[in-house]
Amino acid sequence: MSKPRIGIFDFACCEGCQLQIVNLEEEILDLTGVVDVVEWREAMSEQSHEYDIAIVEGSITRPEDEERLWIIRSRAKILIALGACATTGGLNKLKNNFDFQDVREYVYGKYADMPHLFTDTVKALDEVVKVDYKIHGCPVDRKELTYVIRCLLMGKKPEIPEYPVCVECKAKGNQCLWETGQVCLGPITRAGCGARCPSFGFRCFGCRGYVDEPNIDAARDVIEKYGLNIEDLKSKMVLFGSKQVHANE
Ligand code: SF4
Ligand code: SF4
Ligand code: SF4
Repeated sequence: MSKPRIGIFDFACCEGCQLQIVNLEEEILDLTGVVDVVEWREAMSEQSHEYDIAIVEGSITRPEDEERLWIIRSRAKILIALGACATTGGLNKLKNNFDFQDVREYVYGKYADMPHLFTDTVKALDEVVKVDYKIHGCPVDRKELTYVIRCLLMGKKPEIPEYPVCVECKAKGNQCLWETGQVCLGPITRAGCGARCPSFGFRCFGCRGYVDEPNIDAARDVIEKYGLNIEDLKSKMVLFGSKQVHANE
């Protein structure tokens, strides 16, 4: 039986999530024994139009990106969005909160009006094409990455947590950071990282995106308990929260 073919592609991003694939080290050797990586710009020069699984990193920011993503989608049986830039638009979506000409001038200075530097509204992959699976995080977690790929190779549906980071945080017995004055996004952010940031005393800033049905009432109760209001929470949701959920709902 032929091995499943994988293509790895990127759009607007820092490529940190692809680096997590490179960093799989010994595990990558196991994986390459059971799959054929047929295209991966970051690690090889070969290209292919024939692949079964497309792993796509980065956000969509230009019409030509959309066209390229449609082509990738049409060639792949399974499309996986890799990392926050791809799953939610990630940090890149911050741009959508500003005037695009101001952003161009800030970034490119006197070259701001060069046509090839024009970018449009930032989109997550699933705002353009159907996405089959999402590997969340900025960057993605290596264990979760290999778990998802292994599940797909075995024909199983990977189970990605649909509960908030607080569940993992409380299971670890951490002191809640709200008690120390930090506005932590754990109550509404998707678990799966093992509450990594709160476990080191730093608030969750929502890099894994929000759970599909965040318990806004519970979050509101926590906010009120600590004498804050919904605006304090929303102000912390800007980094990874643009257009994911609306905290005033
Ligand atoms: S999700 Fe984060 S680490 Fe991954 S490509 Fe985007 S900015 Fe880089
Ligand atoms: S709000 Fe943050 S610190 Fe508090 S329990 Fe939830 S994840 Fe942990
Ligand atoms: S605790 Fe929050 S910000 Fe930190 S890795 Fe987990 S989801 Fe991302």
